[in-house]
Amino acid sequence: MRTQATALTNSRPGLRPIVFSDFDGTITQIDVTDRILSELAHPSWEEIEQEWARGMIGSRECLTRQMALVDASADVLDALIDSIPLDPHFAGFHQFLRKRRVPFYVVSDGFDYVIRRVLERGGVNGSLRNGSHLFSSSLRVEGNRLVTSFPHSPEPCEHGCATCKAAIMRRLSHKHRPIIFIGDGFSDRFAIELSDIVFAKRQLLAYCRERGIPCTPFETFADIQAAMTEGIAGTAPKLKRRRSRAQEGSLALSNRYY
Ligand SMILES: [Mg+2]
Ligand SMILES: [Zn+2]
Repeated sequence: MRTQATALTNSRPGLRPIVFSDFDGTITQIDVTDRILSELAHPSWEEIEQEWARGMIGSRECLTRQMALVDASADVLDALIDSIPLDPHFAGFHQFLRKRRVPFYVVSDGFDYVIRRVLERGGVNGSLRNGSHLFSSSLRVEGNRLVTSFPHSPEPCEHGCATCKAAIMRRLSHKHRPIIFIGDGFSDRFAIELSDIVFAKRQLLAYCRERGIPCTPFETFADIQAAMTEGIAGTAPKLKRRRSRAQEGSLALSNRYY
């Protein structure tokens, strides 16, 4: 089995990395959906959570039933979202990738309404906030009710995902290597099957360790940026040696990044 380090430095010429990240508990320091439920929903949300944790239902059914238990106005919801701390190094990491033209996508079972508001506060602009690089569940506030929908997984997948991270990654990553995934939770377990490199914390880290899946533990996005800087720097000489006319075009793009 490839190690994380080999995968990071063995980027094939002409292929560029692609980075996918979970949102809740990864870009934010705590899970926003869990906080909304624990503060604003009828306590029976926890029974539904248990059904999901035991694998009896998928995240789509879980979130639909749980969010229907929330009773809160938009003002109350917004105030809660605004109290959620972000990873202080996320905005810098996002800039780091943008400057190097490395595609970056957020794939989340969480909700667009929440994610956009958090990113705005974090000073993150462009493709993430306008939605083209954000794949998540959808949330509408109607009076004191929260109404969910799942625009990125219109047909339920075999896992029952709210947003099928694996399906989105499969669709977007065929011209990219390595595929890098960053996450923290049990709902990321299908995404990592498609990834060459996994940065993991909390339950995802425990999940990987239990199963012997190679992964790199991280605390903040600064750790990931440091690991990528090291890996990317190590790649450049190999690419130059292998340079051929046929690769010229794609390598010109790579060089801007490397
Ligand atoms: Mg998470
Ligand atoms: Zn799925």
